[in-house]
Amino acid sequence: MLFFYDPTFPLLILAVVLGLFAQHHVQSTFARYSRISSRRRLTGAQVAKLIVSERGLGDIPVEPIAGNLTDHYDPSQRVLRLSEPVYGNTSLAALGVAAHEAGHAIQHAEGYAPMAIRHSLVPLANLGSQLLIPAIIGGILFSFKPLVYIGIVAYFFAVAFSVVTLPVEFDASRRALRTLETSGYLVGEELDGARKVLKAAAMTYVAAMLVSVINLLRLILLARARD
Ligand SMILES: [Zn+2]
Repeated sequence: MLFFYDPTFPLLILAVVLGLFAQHHVQSTFARYSRISSRRRLTGAQVAKLIVSERGLGDIPVEPIAGNLTDHYDPSQRVLRLSEPVYGNTSLAALGVAAHEAGHAIQHAEGYAPMAIRHSLVPLANLGSQLLIPAIIGGILFSFKPLVYIGIVAYFFAVAFSVVTLPVEFDASRRALRTLETSGYLVGEELDGARKVLKAAAMTYVAAMLVSVINLLRLILLARARD
């Protein structure tokens, strides 16, 4: 994003503030439910392994990774990586995140379409994000329109990526909560803790999507302003 003024500027500020709020909210919610252990005392790594094994995916490794909220499933290497606060912990937050990542592994095994689309968009989306600032600077400083047009086309893929991320993330959380409940890894009000953590995480993706859509809108307005 770049701070040139146009009618969408207040919208951009709003989306950025929402993004910062979402980041803070997911961190504080995760911290709160990290302090509450589940009754069965299974760790995040154990639950992730159990969930994928129940689906015949027991060959998928579950590995620890450094950092906070760095948890992810890597479809190209078929590895499930859990951050240290999740991997060895029995908290409601840890189980929610672990089951969510296991949900991504199951999506991948099932060939869940939004995930396949999302994965295929990664290189183009990265290119689009890298071209955003040069395109805006080129458009404003040098009135070099072709660069703005290239920027718009490339950034479109970054927007598509952030949009298709939403069904992938919501579906993984839905699967997670259903499995945690039916398998009895979490019971009763324990599920609410995991649900709140996953909801907070989903909000960060919604905010990122809004920022990317607004950036695209601003690029289009910039191109039109120079016509
Ligand atoms: Zn996810």
